[in-house]
Amino acid sequence: KNDSLTSSTNNKEKFLEGLLPSGIDEPSCMSRHQSHLFRKVSPHKPSSYLISKLRNYEEIHRSCGPNSKAYHKSMEEILQSKSIKSDSAMCKYLIWTPANGLGNQMISMAATFLYALITDRVMLVRFGKDKQGLFCEPFLNSTWLLPENSPFWSGNQVETYESLTEKEKANNNSNLDFPSALFLNLQYQQNYHEKFFHCDDKQALLNKVPLMILQSDQYFVPSLFMTPLFNKELEKMFVEKDAVFHHLGRYLFHPSNSAWRLITNFYQEHLAKADEKIGLQIRVFHPITTPQQAIMNLVLNCTLENKLLPKLHDMNNSKTITKAVLVASLYPEYGENIKMMYMNKSTVTGEVIEVYQPSGEEEQKFNDNTHNMKALVDMYLLSLSDVLVTTCLSTFGYVAQGLGNLKPWLLYRLGRNESHYPACRREFSMEPCYHYPPKHYCSGKAIHDYAASFIYMRKCKDYSSGVKMI
Ligand code: GDP
Repeated sequence: KNDSLTSSTNNKEKFLEGLLPSGIDEPSCMSRHQSHLFRKVSPHKPSSYLISKLRNYEEIHRSCGPNSKAYHKSMEEILQSKSIKSDSAMCKYLIWTPANGLGNQMISMAATFLYALITDRVMLVRFGKDKQGLFCEPFLNSTWLLPENSPFWSGNQVETYESLTEKEKANNNSNLDFPSALFLNLQYQQNYHEKFFHCDDKQALLNKVPLMILQSDQYFVPSLFMTPLFNKELEKMFVEKDAVFHHLGRYLFHPSNSAWRLITNFYQEHLAKADEKIGLQIRVFHPITTPQQAIMNLVLNCTLENKLLPKLHDMNNSKTITKAVLVASLYPEYGENIKMMYMNKSTVTGEVIEVYQPSGEEEQKFNDNTHNMKALVDMYLLSLSDVLVTTCLSTFGYVAQGLGNLKPWLLYRLGRNESHYPACRREFSMEPCYHYPPKHYCSGKAIHDYAASFIYMRKCKDYSSGVKMI
């Protein structure tokens, strides 16, 4: 009897309390059913409503996804008709296109998936060679990859959201011809122009367009919660508003078998036996103007003062507890420096500190598969930490904190030749920060205080014009 109880508990953990569907071929994606062995059980349970939305989505994705009859039929219609007169019963699509580094891409994919989920669209991703073989297929019996022969690999030849909204304004909404495909750029742009994407009338327009190509590097989930049309549904899906990325990220992002081998090998070899695992994410946005020593001081001030790491001691202590420090940075010097600092030294607490840095790529590389693989390994390993220190503003850190259910210590961002005291402070929510939220209500009035209008949103600690869910 006990055995069956244990195995049903194991099964619940294996499928993350119903977040993951059963029935997926295990060997094709080992991480999907093994990740729970490397993490603490998450105290955040997905709601049964979210689970039913996911199962329903998988059904839609299977019947409308690439290789299905409906896919070919719908794509043919979309390509042939320049404009759509009425809501036809065809499948609707949301094509995600990448911008920026892998962290930015993962948070925007999660937001895009949530948008697809609440608008009954099929999400397809435009993965170039740089992302091949990084992730498993997330959806049961189908693929999320936009087929390479799709004419929608580029967004240039389709109408833009801006031109549609202009047309609508001019037409006063009478007899507007809707395009069958539309390009929507939700990326931050220098000449920031309010898109009113979070307003019902704009969503009603978009709803008429069967295929949307969306480009964003942002976690625009808060703007979906701000949209009255979606708000009730989203509140029902997510009882805990600070666990949206936590659920969506663990649902979508399963490292491929080759990524999983790298992650688990590194974990077993270096981290598994430690009593405590500390992740340090050291992101240097402007290496020329921020000297290495200033960053090093910031990291040490943060970790020593908050007792995440012990100070050194002259006397020999009996060594009992081992802490493993995982350093993720483009620069190998940070890991080396901290390693040297503790090597053959006693600490005031008697703890033994071991330092490991899986990679040090020196610079951010674009369109590079091996480089992205290392980035995924680093983000995933950071997410397995017990204590996490991240760098302000870095989406790389956001992914790690969200997957790992961690509220990190945020290292301040140093300006030119600056130091900062205190060196870091504690984050209050594991959600990613949405750096460029809407600045106006749908009425056109400026939003001054997000928290006053949207009860589960707060200004981000690391970027005061950004908002995050709590
Ligand atoms: P952000 O710029 O910090 O918000 O994070 P992104 O992931 O969007 O872009 C940074 C990119 O630089 C990553 O995707 C990696 O390609 C690279 N990078 C930055 N920091 C690290 C790191 O600690 N480890 C590895 N492997 N790559 C990094």
